[in-house]
Order: sequence, then C-alpha cells, then structure tokens
Amino acid sequence: MYKKYVRRKIFRLFLPLFISCNVTNIFGNSKFLKKIGFFFSPFFLDPIFKETHPENPNRIKLAVTRIKVNAFLKKNIIFFPIRSVSENELLLIHTSIHINKIRKTYGNRIDKIARTGVGAVLSACDCIIEGKISRAFVASRPPGHHAINYGREEGFCFYNNISIATKYLQKKGFRKILIIDWDYHHGDGTEHFFYDDPSVMFFSTHDWSAYPGTGDPSRKGKGKGKGYNINIHLPCGSNNSDIERAFLNHLKPKALDFAPDFVLISAGFDSRDGDLLGCFKINDEGYRNLTKITSEISNQSAGGRIISILEGGYNPNGVASSVETHIEELILSY
Ligand SMILES: [Zn+2]
Repeated sequence: MYKKYVRRKIFRLFLPLFISCNVTNIFGNSKFLKKIGFFFSPFFLDPIFKETHPENPNRIKLAVTRIKVNAFLKKNIIFFPIRSVSENELLLIHTSIHINKIRKTYGNRIDKIARTGVGAVLSACDCIIEGKISRAFVASRPPGHHAINYGREEGFCFYNNISIATKYLQKKGFRKILIIDWDYHHGDGTEHFFYDDPSVMFFSTHDWSAYPGTGDPSRKGKGKGKGYNINIHLPCGSNNSDIERAFLNHLKPKALDFAPDFVLISAGFDSRDGDLLGCFKINDEGYRNLTKITSEISNQSAGGRIISILEGGYNPNGVASSVETHIEELILSY
C-alpha cells in the first residue's frame, strides 16, 4: 500500500515535465524559471528540399542528439510539446494570399513542417507568458527571417516565425520587443515588417554583399520607427571580436535605452567559421559572448526573458557545437 502511494507521488512529481503549457504545474512556477524550455518536433526531421540541398534535416539532427547527451543541459532543459498554429496567428504577419499560395505551391506536407516551426515558437511564447520558464530555445527548421508576403519561399523561409512571435507577444501585453539577428544573412523579412514600428527594435549583423543583398546600414527605419532599425555590415572574414564590438558599441547602449520587455534572437549559425554558405570566422566562444551580451540586456530590462530561434546554419557539426554552447550560456547567464 505504502509503495503504491510512493509510486503515485513520484508519478505526480514528474508529471509536469510532460504536460502542455496550458496546464498549471503542481510545483507552482518558480521551480522551472531557471531552466530552459526546448522546443523540437520530429516534423523538423522531414526534408523540404532535395537531399543535397544545404537546408536539410542533418543541420538540426546532430544538435538535438548532442543536447540530449550533455549532462549539464539534460539537467537544465525541459522538453515541451508543440501546439498547432491557427490561421489567425499566421495572419498576424502574413496575408491570406501568401498563406494560400504556400500551401498550393509546396503542398500540405511542406506547409505542415513550416507551420510546425511557427507553432514551436508560439508554444515557447505561451510557456513564458504562463510563467513556466523564462528562456527557450526553438530548434526548428526551415528558417523564417527572409519570409515576406510574396507567396513563395524566400531563402529557404516560408513563414516568418520571429515576426509572428513578436506580434503575438505584443497582443499578449509585452509592449517593446528587441529582435537580435546574428545570422550571416540579413533578416530582410523581419526588417520589412517592423521598419516603421518604434515598438520593435531590430538589430542585425550580416554580410551585406551576400543573399538577399539588403541590410544597408544607412537604412535606420521610417517615420516613428526611425532609429529602431540597426543594420551592421560585417565583411567576409569577420571574427569574434568584430561581431562582439558591433554588439557592444551599436546594440547594447541603444537596447538598454530602448528597454525591451522581451528579447528574441534570430540565432543563425551560418555566421560560424566553416559554414557552407557563410564566410565569417565566428566560433563557439564568439556565440557564448554574444549570448552573454544579449543576456545582460534582457536581465536588466526584460526580466531575463529570451526566446532564441534557430535560423540558418549549414554545417551540421558546427551548428550542433554552437547551439550547445549557446544554450549552456543562456542557462549560466540568467
Ligand atoms: Zn542565413
């Protein structure tokens, strides 16, 4: 009888680790706050393009495997389920013409993978809104920061995950959002959606000469949004100190002045040394330092709230190693 009671107790104790964010856990909220929510779906292991295409499931598979065997991360990560995304949530950013064309052109299977990416980011938002966690990493693919409303895939992106999350968080009461994009490529989609919006600060480091050819540093925003769009061009060969300098000189002071309620990261690891598509020389230590600076901003003004979303990164070993370091630092610096 006593054994049965203990078993039931243990079961109830671990139950919250497996339940959705819509259910209040029996610990209350504080117990999980120092842990990182991890959002991943087997749908992300489904190919979208041809096997030889750089955007393939291997770029995420190895990262997930490494996280699962890392003792420190295992102790500090909670795997949460992913909810589906509604049409109205996609409409926060996209037009119905874009949504319908994506489904029609690429079919239900690919549309489902791309929508699951949005669902993963919104699930992370829900978990933080409900006080289950303060930080999350979304290990999703395909990326999203190039998606606009042209009714087609742009730079491997279908739906702009981070922009949808921004609008969603604002609807839920977070007024000012800081988006940091350290992908090798400029986040043209994200810039497009918030270019005249003073409630969203967009900071992007990128190689202006690479795809999609946008990211001119003289483009600083429009109307009331002037000054809230920060483009930093880094040339081929840029290394840790180049990108860290950009973060310390051009992001940190402006971001602290802006005082965001929430920080989102377009975490592209194609800015890493040895990437298939990029030519920067940033290594794991560089991403650790960028994570630290981002954390300092968030700790000072946004209650430590950060959602980091995987964007590019086309060297599976490199992505795995940097994602591991990045998540480690998200935990340590909170
Ligand atoms: Zn990229």
